[in-house]
Amino acid sequence: MYMIRRVFIINIGTELLIGRTLNGNLLWLGSRIYERGGEVVGSITVHDRYDDIHYALGCAMARSPEAIITTGGLGPTYDDITMDAVARWLGRKLVLNPDALDFMQRLRPPVSEDSKKAYEKMAMLPEGAIPLFNYVGAAPGAIISYGETRIFVLPGVPSEMRDMFQRYVEPLLGSYGAKGIVSLIRGIYEAQISPLIAKIAREHPEVYIKSHPGMEAGRSVLRVEIWTQSVNADLEKLYKEVEKYVRAHDGEIERIA
Ligand code: ATP
Repeated sequence: MYMIRRVFIINIGTELLIGRTLNGNLLWLGSRIYERGGEVVGSITVHDRYDDIHYALGCAMARSPEAIITTGGLGPTYDDITMDAVARWLGRKLVLNPDALDFMQRLRPPVSEDSKKAYEKMAMLPEGAIPLFNYVGAAPGAIISYGETRIFVLPGVPSEMRDMFQRYVEPLLGSYGAKGIVSLIRGIYEAQISPLIAKIAREHPEVYIKSHPGMEAGRSVLRVEIWTQSVNADLEKLYKEVEKYVRAHDGEIERIA
């Protein structure tokens, strides 16, 4: 079975670059992919413009990922150009995909001539693409093979994007996920624990360890996360090391996950 590990994410949408919409899709995809054993090797956010999308695809391919995920720009309006931009970049034509059209029409029968036209526009996919059905909204996505890379073209609306990702992309991610231990530490400052965190990070490159300072009822609290995708890493041992260090510095530690 074809498995994906290295993923490059392209978020398409001018609203993401002019401060109108927070790029929550990147955040969600990043954590989901990491937790399922994949690695996001890079990401780029671009306007809904041909040149920009082509530039992004070039950046993505330079990292030789097994998968490129694009989000956004699949709707029926004039500025939704992602499928066409991807097709042009690949040197392929856009062709009407009857399965994609049929699925949309069955899920929500068109109510007017305009909605029929909108469906037809959205069912235009690059030649050779496999359609991804949209169970939440309307616009289909697509999988396109390009050399060793699969390009997954997903919608921008978060609920649609998530559903499509979970149905079609997630099953192709690594067979083991990440494991992690999360703890809250009170009574010591980040500067006090950072030498230990730096030491663990240096000695265990297979582990992601990070402290996040925050406040809780006026008191400082540090959230420390230790994650790994490696089956060999012993997180329990590393957690015990952190625990010992915190206690030795008169702090309190609470494991929350
Ligand atoms: P549809 O499939 O519904 O036609 P679409 O693929 O055309 O959607 P866009 O038009 O690009 O998607 O975006 C629709 C809405 O989804 C935007 O107005 C925005 O609110 C939200 N959205 C788009 N991209 C993102 C993103 N990266 N993170 C969070 N929200 C996003």
